[in-house]
Amino acid sequence: METPVVALAGGVGGAKLALGLSKILAPDELTVVVNTGDDEEFYGLHVSPDLDTVMYTLAGLSNEETGWGLSGDTFTAVERLKTYGVDAWFNLGDQDLATHLRRTEMLRHGKTLSQATESMRAALGVRHPILPMSDDRVRTVVSTDEGELPFQVYFVKRRCEPVVRSLSFDGATEAAPSPGFRAAIEAARALVICPSNPFVSVAPILAVTGVRDFVRELSGLRVAVSPIVGGKALRGPAAKMMEELGLDATCVGVAREYAGFCDIFVIDEVDAHHREEIEALGMRAEVADTVMETQADKVRLARHILGLKE
Ligand code: GDP
Ligand code: CA
Repeated sequence: METPVVALAGGVGGAKLALGLSKILAPDELTVVVNTGDDEEFYGLHVSPDLDTVMYTLAGLSNEETGWGLSGDTFTAVERLKTYGVDAWFNLGDQDLATHLRRTEMLRHGKTLSQATESMRAALGVRHPILPMSDDRVRTVVSTDEGELPFQVYFVKRRCEPVVRSLSFDGATEAAPSPGFRAAIEAARALVICPSNPFVSVAPILAVTGVRDFVRELSGLRVAVSPIVGGKALRGPAAKMMEELGLDATCVGVAREYAGFCDIFVIDEVDAHHREEIEALGMRAEVADTVMETQADKVRLARHILGLKE
């Protein structure tokens, strides 16, 4: 794979591979572009869960057990909000709150989400650029058997229990890619779609005006990694969503989402028997150990991907 590389990421799954890539590539060889369809305002603050997961992971500060927030964080502020009668169903750590306070203040003073992210990631010692997909407001809406739910209501408050009928990305067609995203994708010699949820992490990025065409026209290698391993999501609702949407909850079902603008689809060793079905979709299937538990796992998968050739 040639550099520079643009990696598209959601939260936890995306951050794992982004970390692996960042251990091998120099800061001018990798740009991580992150979903902001999950962003929401809580307690007066602008919260960007996926941006923060990627930023904390690359900074080595993430809470590996929960998959979100900062390791060793405490939750006294949100407990105090409950004392005031606030229905504080969205938990935010005390140290994590500093990130949301700072972001919100910068936005209120006219900075963009890109600028706020840039300032904090640099302060945390992260050397690789992390960019929101857009500086404009895009919100994922989950249409369910209980009606239309804002993403965080579906995901956190309702614990992904409602049956998903469809997804939409409010604001996406009016949203422009962030300036850094546009520049990075114009310069890119390769694209990596991280093993993030295809429907609520990658789809919102692709829904931003012009992004799908940019990806379609990118001349370098485009590689996607399946977040579905052995018919299951390693965490989160991806497989449940696929069943509810009437899709195959397998790596082949994910590959169908990316057919037409992906050259190589990376599947796990346990899914090697799906190779031919994937190749029938018009992309090459590459088999790898895609389960990333340790840092060594993340670097190993990143190295495998960076070693792929057309
Ligand atoms: P979220 O925004 O925090 O939900 O995170 P993402 O959308 O980036 O990632 C969620 C997806 O990552 C889930 O569908 C998981 O199955 C997938 N995932 C998590 N860890 C791994 C891993 O180690 N390997 C692979 N292949 N997928 C993973
Ligand atoms: Ca997310």
